[in-house]
Amino acid sequence: MPCASAGDFLPYTRSTARAAGWQWRIPLQHRIGNGYVYSSNYIDEAGAAATLLANLDGKALAEPRTLRFVTGRRRQVWNRNVVAIGLSSGFLEPLESTSLHLIQASILRLLAMFPDRSFDPAVRDEYNRIANSELERVRDFLILHYHRNRRGDGELWRYCASMSIPDTLSESIEHFHRNARIVQREHEVFVRASWLAVQVGQLNLPEACDQPPQAHATDSVAWLAKMRATLHAEASRLPTHQQYIESNCRAEESHARTNA
Ligand SMILES: Cc1cc2nc3c(=O)[nH]c(=O)nc-3n(C[C@H](O)[C@H](O)[C@H](O)COP(=O)(O)OP(=O)(O)OC[C@H]3O[C@@H](n4cnc5c(N)ncnc54)[C@H](O)[C@@H]3O)c2cc1C
Repeated sequence: MPCASAGDFLPYTRSTARAAGWQWRIPLQHRIGNGYVYSSNYIDEAGAAATLLANLDGKALAEPRTLRFVTGRRRQVWNRNVVAIGLSSGFLEPLESTSLHLIQASILRLLAMFPDRSFDPAVRDEYNRIANSELERVRDFLILHYHRNRRGDGELWRYCASMSIPDTLSESIEHFHRNARIVQREHEVFVRASWLAVQVGQLNLPEACDQPPQAHATDSVAWLAKMRATLHAEASRLPTHQQYIESNCRAEESHARTNA
């Protein structure tokens, strides 16, 4: 559901937890894109639309449009002479916006493993193994957001906090909790900083840290303050997001309306 721009021109997408899911807010040049990703087990379509409408930063510019999806993946994304890429191969959910990355990774993998006329099953199996593993890493990262979240304001969150989760994710949570160790597995899509942000952001705080001391760790508070001051000084010399867009890539009104 698009709404009028609030004029604040934030240079990032905001995701906000709601009782039955989460809401996105994507600021564009001439309007804001909004959506509510919800589980229909916990709210109906009218309730979801009302929630979204009540949480817009500007006047609604259209009726809400409902998209339905079933999460999951194909048992074999490469089967005989057909390779499923993109939505035809499966879908998780859009919280971490991974679909386009996975499409690109699939194309590159297919080019690297392109078959000859013999269609060697070993090549197909290896392609499928990597595709599965990659999707499972995304799955674990997504579930971490839901499972570790301790909100009590909706049945969905209570369910997610107590649901069973994959062993691979349990191990990642435990390693981080005990020793601040970030487990990186084969075909990991998310970098260490992303895992760190979600583990700490969802308050899975470590009890200890087994990293070897760094040279600057003797006075980390002063070191961080110096780093912060340097970043502020550099950032204050740069144009704002709005100034940059206005002088370099301002969208024409008609173009912005059709593409936003
Ligand atoms: C609002 C929104 C925001 C999104 N934001 C992000 C994001 O930030 N990052 C990200 O990674 N992903 C995002 N996605 C997801 C991403 O856009 C999709 O996963 C991706 O476009 C899927 O590409 P695809 O080629 O698999 O399918 P599609 O883009 O759906 O293409 C399928 C095509 O097949 C055509 N088709 C269907 N049936 C037939 C038929 N029988 N015969 C011939 N043609 C047919 C359709 O018309 C369509 O053109 C977003 C999706 C939505 C809806």
